[in-house]
Amino acid sequence: MSDQKGFSTKAIHAGTAPDPTTGARATPIYQTTSFVFKDTDHAAALFGLQEFGNIYTRIMNPTTAVLEEKVAALEGGTAALATASGHAAQLLVFHTIMQPGCNFVAAKRLYGGSINQFGHAFKSFDWQVRWADPADMGDIEKQIDEKTRAIFIESLANPGGTFVDIAAIAEVAHKHGLPLIVDNTMATPYLVRPIEHGADIVVHSLTKFMGGHGNSMGGIIVDGGKFDWSKSGNYPMLSEPRPEYAGVVLHQALGEIAFAIAARVLGLRDFGPAISPFNAFMIQTGIETLPLRMQKHCDNALEVARWLKQHDKVSWVSYSALPDDENHALQQKYSPKGGGAVFTFGLKGGFEAGKTFVESLEMFSHLANIGDTRSLVIHPASTTHRQLSEEQQIAAGAGPDVVRLSIGIEDASDIIADLEQALAKA
Ligand SMILES: *Cc1c(COP(=O)(O)O)cnc(C)c1O
Repeated sequence: MSDQKGFSTKAIHAGTAPDPTTGARATPIYQTTSFVFKDTDHAAALFGLQEFGNIYTRIMNPTTAVLEEKVAALEGGTAALATASGHAAQLLVFHTIMQPGCNFVAAKRLYGGSINQFGHAFKSFDWQVRWADPADMGDIEKQIDEKTRAIFIESLANPGGTFVDIAAIAEVAHKHGLPLIVDNTMATPYLVRPIEHGADIVVHSLTKFMGGHGNSMGGIIVDGGKFDWSKSGNYPMLSEPRPEYAGVVLHQALGEIAFAIAARVLGLRDFGPAISPFNAFMIQTGIETLPLRMQKHCDNALEVARWLKQHDKVSWVSYSALPDDENHALQQKYSPKGGGAVFTFGLKGGFEAGKTFVESLEMFSHLANIGDTRSLVIHPASTTHRQLSEEQQIAAGAGPDVVRLSIGIEDASDIIADLEQALAKA
């Protein structure tokens, strides 16, 4: 799909074409594990990477390929690799970049699951994470040494929904010869396209706003295509001959799609976290309406945030699209179409009021997820952050009075009515 087309057109058409054998207009679900070779030479060319084609669904599948082409087009990347979940995408990105004994710098403010994956699970590969404040370039730079291989941030950061200065962090990364990896899950490419601001790799949990309906798990890696993987010699997966592919040097052979292919043929092939064709179909169908849904999420969230702000049981509201919010300038720079769907606010009544409020909501679902069509709520202090002391809760942005909302795409008046009746009880 040509770069000239608009975002909504790409969301519908990029990657899709009528099925060549049946004429089916919607993308068929190719629910098959394997694909027939034309002859032995064809099979040999596929296995040797001389030719790209379907072999086995763990490595590649035509339904999944539509999803990959679509997200690459929406992010402005050169190629993409879909995975079973957002966490699987992160694992494959770091497997392609890291060697044992190396480290990477990650923003302190991240999705809780990523904090666990980086801080605990990655230790068994001997990959170290160094935490830094994403608003402090000096702090990021201080963590970098000769063993650092990448910087990782979220464009719109959990849990409170704050925008991060991607261009400034990209500059720090590139000054030190490092790629910048951006988790764009909360913003989606409708609001922010990190590659345009200097990111080298984008990852997503497609489970959230991209699929958008709370029904399918998925993740994706998008290759920005610009990073020089050969220059420093620090990325041997890409810059040195691969014994499993007859000595091919992936960056030399594949250029601007080398990272996405390396993550597929060295990571996905051997670790195996492949997305099912059915989930790829569900998520690619969801993405067709991404622009409509995201704008409605943002418009509803702004209306709700404004309403909460004037309510006498609410002590504060932290939403970047409110003009007096401390994150408003970055929101205007990176995401002028809106502030996203997720934000936090404080209840004057503290812990007990938070519990009663969440239990009194009728239309909101009380659960640990974001990015559904439905409005979602969580009171972190009594659920996800329950095991922490009050001081630790406050440091994590999950103090006793904090409520987190993920505003859905219902009618704003009904969302507000539900909040109003629950606030009356809190
Ligand atoms: C949910 C989420 C992830 C993890 O994705 P899964 O699909 O649950 O594995 C990573 N980053 C962010 C910002 C998320 O919200």
